[in-house]
This record gives sequence, C-alpha cells and structure tokens, in this order.
Amino acid sequence: MASKVIDHYPLLGYSGPVHGLDHFLRDLNTVYGQSRSEDSIDVLNMKDISLERVMTYYYMRHEIMELGLDFFEPAGARVRTLNNLLAFVITESIMGDTCRKHLRLAKRMGKGDVILNFNYDFLMDDALYNAGKFLDSGYVMRFDYTKIDEEWKRVREGPSQVTMLKLHGSLNWVRCSNCGRNLLLRSEESLSALCNAARVMGEKCPKCRSIWLYGLGRIIVPPFVGKNLKDTDIKYLWNRALDLSEDIERMVVIGYRFSEFDYETDMLLREMIHNQVTSPDVPIDIINPDARSVASRFRSMYRKSPITLFDSLDSYLDS
Ligand SMILES: [Zn+2]
Repeated sequence: MASKVIDHYPLLGYSGPVHGLDHFLRDLNTVYGQSRSEDSIDVLNMKDISLERVMTYYYMRHEIMELGLDFFEPAGARVRTLNNLLAFVITESIMGDTCRKHLRLAKRMGKGDVILNFNYDFLMDDALYNAGKFLDSGYVMRFDYTKIDEEWKRVREGPSQVTMLKLHGSLNWVRCSNCGRNLLLRSEESLSALCNAARVMGEKCPKCRSIWLYGLGRIIVPPFVGKNLKDTDIKYLWNRALDLSEDIERMVVIGYRFSEFDYETDMLLREMIHNQVTSPDVPIDIINPDARSVASRFRSMYRKSPITLFDSLDSYLDS
C-alpha cells in the first residue's frame, strides 16, 4: 500500500510532507533491493519486506550506529521519514466516515472501562469522541496543547468516561524536541480532517515556533526489538496500565495477535497477576480470526479464566 500512496501523492519533492523520501528509498533499494535508485518504489512490494522488518532496521540503525542521538530527535532523519510515510499510509487507509463497527464498539463501552490500545491509528479514539465518551484526559498522557481543527488550545482536563492508554504512541501525538512540549492533534469536524492534520503535520510548535522538520516529531514506539519504552511519558502510560487494571471484571482482547515478540505485553499481564491487581480467573473474550492461538498465550498466564472465542468483530458485537 505504501507504494500506491507514494504513486498517488507528490511525496518525492524536497519540501513535501515526507521529507527525505528520496534518500529513504535509496537506502531501502540498496539494502533490500538491487539498485541505488531514489525513486523506484518496487522494493516496497517485495514479499520479504514487512513494516515491522523495515521499522526495526531503521530504528536499530539509528540507535546503534548513529551514536548519541535520541529516538525522537530530528537528527534521526530516516526514522522521521519512515514515520511520516507511515502516517500517510495509515491515514489513507482509515479516511472517510467513522467506522460503523468502531461506533458500535464505542456504544458498548461505559464509565470505568480501560482500553490498552497498541495501534498507531485513531479509529477507536474518534469513535469514542463521537459517542461522547472520551475526552483528552482519557489518554492519561501529558499534553500541553491540543490542536482542535485549526486552533491551538491549552488542554482542558475533565473526567473522561473511558480511559485509553495508547501504549505504542499514536500518529496524532507530537513532541517538540526543542522545548519538550507534547501536542495532541484532533478534530471535531471529521475523521478525514484529523487524518489530514496528522499526516501533513504542517504545524509549528505553539510554544517555541519550531517547525516539524527541526523540532516536531511523532510519539511512536516502534515494533519489536527497537522499542523505546524508556521514554518518560510512554513509561508512565505502562505503569498506569497496571494501576488501572485493578479489579477489572472482564478482559476483552480485540484484534491483538500477541506475537511471541511482544515481550512487554507478556510482562505487563504477568505483572497484573504478580501484583494481584487482576483476578487469576478473570473472564476473557478474544476476538480474532485466529482466536485459538491468541487464547493459548492468555491460557499460559490465566489458567483458571473462562475464555470465550469470537472469530470476528461482528460476531462479538452481535453476542
Ligand atoms: Zn517547542
């Protein structure tokens, strides 16, 4: 899909929103392809290339080979290009009206519900906003400013019915590396307006006026071994996830594959048991086309839990 997006938008220009895409493609063609082309996108369609693999490569290279540079610093040029391309691809795939299934799911949620969300997109956030069940404070993340449609505002805290911890960050979360402010982009207009804001990032930091190229970067935790969970704000979310899981009555696992490399999720779930915040026989619903293999991961921890399997979100919503 990335190649279609690059084909569709004029992304290769110097001042375009995915700055540095030419050098990014050259690296990718050199490492995975057979050329040093700066505009050939065929490499993105190769079978043995996956998002996880490419992200891990660039993040590890940045962490290990580009010494002394922080993950979210603008100096990690390829990482920034990758994340901006990722924003383009993901937002392209979710543009339009709010998803009907997410809205139905949002309607089922209520006061006190806690979502541990590992997705970079904001489909669930948008559905909960629309259902009137979610406010910025529900992220638990420290935001200094919120950009609502065209205007920067100071964050207004208020009680949110639903709490959503986005443990891998989010495409609409931005940090200014010059002044350290955390910024939240959102829209009351439409999901498409939010997608546009999140992918183009034509913003300036409302505090120090840094532009995205030199100061603003996305707050995203990469997959697999390159994970940066030492980031103070992200670490705080993981700790809150443990506190907020106290006395949960039911665990609902939607679309989460629980790969064998998700060591930190495994750790978090075991910490819930270790600290006795979650009952070892808490009922668990698993919604996944491959629900059985996900269930076996949970079964290894929650041995007494009744586990109900659903092979699609529709079958769960109809239950
Ligand atoms: Zn700033």
